[in-house]
Amino acid sequence: MTNSTKTLCPYCGVGCGLEVLPPAQPGKPVNRDSEGTPIWQVRGDRNHPSSLGKVCVKGATVSESLEKSRLKYPMMRDSLTDEFRRVSWDEAMEAIVNRMQTLRLTQGPDALCMYGSGQFQTEDYYIAQKLFKGFLGTNNFDANSRLCMSSAVAGYTQSFGSDGPPCCYEDLELTDCAFLIGTNTAECHPIVFNRLRVHHKKNRKVKMVVVDPRRTQTAEAADLHLAIKPGTDIDLFNGIAYLLMRWGRIDTFFIDECTQNFSAYADVIRHYPPELVARNCGIRIDELEKAAQYWGDSERVLSLWSMGINQSSEGTAKVRTLINLHLMTGDIGKPGAGPFSLTGQPNAMGGREAGGLCNILPGYRVINNPQHRAEVEQFWKLPQGSIQPQRGRTAWEMIQGLETGEVGFLWIAATNPAVSMPDIKRTQAALKRSPFTVYQDAYYPTETSAYAHILLPAAQWSEKTGVMTNSERMVTLCPQFRDPPGEARPDWEVFAEVGRRLGFTEGFNFKTSAEVYAEFVQITEGRPCDSSGLSHDKLRTYGPLQWPYPDAWPWLEGEDLEQQNRTNKRLYTDFRFNTPDGRARFAAYHSKGLAEPTDEAYPFVLTTGRLYGHWHTQTRTGRIPKIQKMHPDPFMEIHPQDAAKLNIEENTFVEVRSRRGKARFLAKITKAIAPGTLFIPMHWGALWAEDAEANALTHPNACPTSLQPELKACAVQVKVA
Ligand code: SF4
Repeated sequence: MTNSTKTLCPYCGVGCGLEVLPPAQPGKPVNRDSEGTPIWQVRGDRNHPSSLGKVCVKGATVSESLEKSRLKYPMMRDSLTDEFRRVSWDEAMEAIVNRMQTLRLTQGPDALCMYGSGQFQTEDYYIAQKLFKGFLGTNNFDANSRLCMSSAVAGYTQSFGSDGPPCCYEDLELTDCAFLIGTNTAECHPIVFNRLRVHHKKNRKVKMVVVDPRRTQTAEAADLHLAIKPGTDIDLFNGIAYLLMRWGRIDTFFIDECTQNFSAYADVIRHYPPELVARNCGIRIDELEKAAQYWGDSERVLSLWSMGINQSSEGTAKVRTLINLHLMTGDIGKPGAGPFSLTGQPNAMGGREAGGLCNILPGYRVINNPQHRAEVEQFWKLPQGSIQPQRGRTAWEMIQGLETGEVGFLWIAATNPAVSMPDIKRTQAALKRSPFTVYQDAYYPTETSAYAHILLPAAQWSEKTGVMTNSERMVTLCPQFRDPPGEARPDWEVFAEVGRRLGFTEGFNFKTSAEVYAEFVQITEGRPCDSSGLSHDKLRTYGPLQWPYPDAWPWLEGEDLEQQNRTNKRLYTDFRFNTPDGRARFAAYHSKGLAEPTDEAYPFVLTTGRLYGHWHTQTRTGRIPKIQKMHPDPFMEIHPQDAAKLNIEENTFVEVRSRRGKARFLAKITKAIAPGTLFIPMHWGALWAEDAEANALTHPNACPTSLQPELKACAVQVKVA
């Protein structure tokens, strides 16, 4: 008999299973953190199908962050220069509802915005969509996933007819060749990388190619590292396609039977001969040929990517040109093959299912599809036309709306935009102008709490019950096993109460998160992400289950059900896609390069990224001593040649400037970064290190399709501070 709880790690999209136990166990000393506080014990859940008992340092230490710096009570103030005063939930709710009602009457519903988070559980996401897009009639809900994976969503949707990563983690162990592009998987998705690394080490014939301007830990493990110039991914993909076509290593049967638009694509590919591509990418021709050879010689190619592809002003084009390679070689819909985006946050995938971006609706539906809107309106029992036909404001457009005065109410939940948004000084200035900001979070203070008029304490992971979906579409129930501190409440419950107070009693009469989830899964019925066969009870009984999991399955029992639950569910195994004619679409794109190329005044490309131990803006990991020791200070990597030219010495301060701002960092001189490129981790905000905000330098220029900003690259100058 054990008193453990099985749940999911609340950090990254790998979604590792955790088993947690109370601090005191019979016959054992009480488990304590380094400061002597009793803390829950955490270990990997050996039965979780995604992680098989493995965890990284973040998952292993998560319980150390649960009690520290918590926001316990609602707080209010009239202006940002006032002190907060503690108020009741009733008073805070009344103020919020009054403001929302006034604005709806005076400026219309589009003056209201909510900026949510991939930290939400699916129930939180779903109720927020229902409230904003359905009952309030504004599509102004966006999540921090906009900064993370909206290019992957757009790329999948345009190429395959709907969103949805087609692969599963089992493919990591079945592939002949893994292409990792714009992802430092070893540090940012460590347990995914471990599975791949073990397979790669065991099988000498399996190849690993890493494409990254930095020689990261991931690149160290590769058979081939292509340190391409930032912004030349499309050149590379088109150059590989050129060689595969020249060598006849393409699957003409798959192209003819399962795709459309190949000839337009082939017309573009003709313009990418190896000499040109190698020059544009800054690599040798033989390196390019080796990459193409690995791809062409392999039966099953798996590509993995994350921010290096998504956070780009041509993010959708990059995703689609990578998918093109899979389509031209038939590397999709079979074990060990396919394009596999690695999601950043623990439930960004659940957010996609629940419609958690300003251009989508629950059940992998899109705002600009009249039939999709009608289906959702009917489901929510709303009059036809209640959901607006045009998308809402993206995260960055909310900032712009504060600047112009069009946004009069901003509700931020479970995210820290005062650190994570691009052009952070402009973002902070806009937040300062906000007439009314509600900030709902588990922690206080954060950088964003400085810009709030109302603070609402949120119950976080471990303090509420809900569901999260990881990158391989595995859905895990995360049960409550601790009490929330003070008066903290689950996000969905707060949104539902505001809905009821606004008069929408019928739509928000939920008593438990299980009821919310039961309604949510119904809206997915018949859709690509069909989860209608799932429920809290089923997930509690059988453990994590992967979608699609329709309710329409013939009733299975015993071994048969067990077998069905454990079978990995790849998408497109019948080579039929979610487009009207069932064919995937090739996309013909030329490379445009970076939105802000270097010039004489700003001669370096700055690329930003993450470190193994820290999570995003350190709201949790900054409070864990072991992780703080791993990464004590912000820094900037520079190549020895560049450092010598600028008289920069190791571990001395440098000043980095872009057209938007400046910041100071300690220099780290390393050959891991290419000459002409600098690297700065994005984890430090003003609370942790004044004047060392990476996003003081970045710009908001975004992909025109996915609207994801190019946080990965901007032009800067650097000098000794
Ligand atoms: Fe958590 Fe991600 Fe680490 Fe797994 S890899 S333990 S999900 S942070």
